[in-house]
Amino acid sequence: MRMSQLYAPTLRETPAEAEVVSHQMMLRAGMLRKAAGGVYTYLPLAWRVLKKIENIVREEMDAKSGQELLMPIIQPAEMWMETGRWSVYGEEMFRVKDRHDRNFCLGPTHEEMITTLVRADVRSYRQLPLRLYQIQNKYRDEIRPRFGLMRGREFIMKDLYSFDRDEAGLDESYKMMYEAYTNVFSRCGLKFRAVEADAGAIGGSGTHEFMVIADSGEAAIVYCDSCDYAANVEKAELNPIETPPDVPETLTLIDTPAMKSIEEITTFLGISPANTIKTIAYHTDKGLVLALVRGDHEVNEIKLKNVLNCIDVALAGEEKITGIGSFPGFIGPVGITGVTIVADATVMHMYNAVCGANQQDKHYVNVNPSRDFSPHFVADLRLIKESDPCPHCGAPVKTARGIEAGQVFKLHTKYSSALKATFLDENGKEQPLVMGCYGIGISRTMAAAIEQNHDEHGIIWPAAIAPYHAVVVPVSFKDQAQAELAQRVYEALQAEQVETVLDDRNERPGVKFKDADLIGYPLKITVGPKAVQENTIEVKVRRSGETFYYPVAKCVEGVKELLKTL
Ligand code: ATP
Ligand code: MG
Repeated sequence: MRMSQLYAPTLRETPAEAEVVSHQMMLRAGMLRKAAGGVYTYLPLAWRVLKKIENIVREEMDAKSGQELLMPIIQPAEMWMETGRWSVYGEEMFRVKDRHDRNFCLGPTHEEMITTLVRADVRSYRQLPLRLYQIQNKYRDEIRPRFGLMRGREFIMKDLYSFDRDEAGLDESYKMMYEAYTNVFSRCGLKFRAVEADAGAIGGSGTHEFMVIADSGEAAIVYCDSCDYAANVEKAELNPIETPPDVPETLTLIDTPAMKSIEEITTFLGISPANTIKTIAYHTDKGLVLALVRGDHEVNEIKLKNVLNCIDVALAGEEKITGIGSFPGFIGPVGITGVTIVADATVMHMYNAVCGANQQDKHYVNVNPSRDFSPHFVADLRLIKESDPCPHCGAPVKTARGIEAGQVFKLHTKYSSALKATFLDENGKEQPLVMGCYGIGISRTMAAAIEQNHDEHGIIWPAAIAPYHAVVVPVSFKDQAQAELAQRVYEALQAEQVETVLDDRNERPGVKFKDADLIGYPLKITVGPKAVQENTIEVKVRRSGETFYYPVAKCVEGVKELLKTL
């Protein structure tokens, strides 16, 4: 491809609308343009990257006996009503009506569609297992579309669905997809981790997220170097901490004027935060809830949701707290009524602790949880943090940030039962299909690759997903000898399947080098006076900055060798 013809309008300035590096760089490198919030056009460079990721995904799905098909984007409401998700999905679903006033949605995911398809055609255990996938646009009217391709409202996803005759079959499908995903992200040249994840609203249990490691990632993960444990912090379990037994003293009300924070109260009493009970009021779809954790711990809201089996939790406003006769900053579990109390298991192991007394400027001391209040639920509610014990081996965990690029999920019979998708087993008995679903965000993976691989000058593509492998930059295209040599090198590379751009623009070398770094070709081949006079070609590796020199005749070979290492 000749740069003069490539539709890659690069920008000098960083567009103000772009908050994250991947978004900024894709706009600047002429890869992406916005059509509406969370809706983008992929320009040719981006489309080449996306197709490369897609092809890696396709090969790995096919290797695990996945069969590609293509389902409609427009989905009739009826099948969503059968599973109850027409109402559950809420505002995130793009809904449309046809001219006859019939309801449809733009597919946010395809469990309903594929289960309805398969139930009509699969009759016997002999047709199983079945693994079907597609690569297609998905539509989700996210509350906060942001970070460019990271959280779009229209985005490209690969979704595979497995159908097995029993749990053992599902385990096998799940294992195969886990391997396939490991291969996909390795082949894309990305640093990633598969982590245990929360099952969330989609239902079922048993799920891993594939996290591309990047400081800008929205997700926090923990991992253990002593064993292979890794989990999303949302999911990571913690065992209760046993405090050494103590003699319960008498519950006593004390004055704590204007001391609303754990810090103020511990300083005042000369105690450690681990001797206090923190009470946090949440407004939920199950009413007002008080969550209790030890003063030095934080609440994991996902765990709280799971305990309550509710969809929304949000911090309750002050008026909610006064509404139950308490006082903001002085709320506590002793003697309070009209709310659901959920205690972290560690709290129930405390002795002679301090907590708010539900009176202005007052706290209780010598609170002994099992004696002084009765939570409705006692559960693991604590948010894991750096150095907490690994739930598997006890060694201190480490934390990192990640971008969820893929997720594998055991659905069991959630959708097949709801949609009556059954088969006849060996004994002629009707059984629900046992399902799994497996998604990879193709467009998010491209953005994640940039978040992980860039410097201040631009993108640093792993060679496997780079839009082109190399750019040939004649220092002066006006110089006929340079132009001719550059052209020769370019053609020789192309002939050897090295995907190359020839920067044939009459631009200053600085401009061409800047664009090359911004677009992030793994290799930059400079053809200057030295090349012409000394028959030497300079090849620079984008990632390491190393420079290699080859005689013209050996240049293609050298480039191919270098590419194998990138
Ligand atoms: P998230 O928690 O980030 O909203 P999700 O868990 O809802 O994502 P899944 O339903 O598991 O997403 O979708 C499979 C994959 O699709 C995700 O792992 C992610 O890579 C991608 N994906 C999901 N939502 C978006 C989005 N709004 N924009 C881009 N990619 C997305
Ligand atoms: Mg997910």
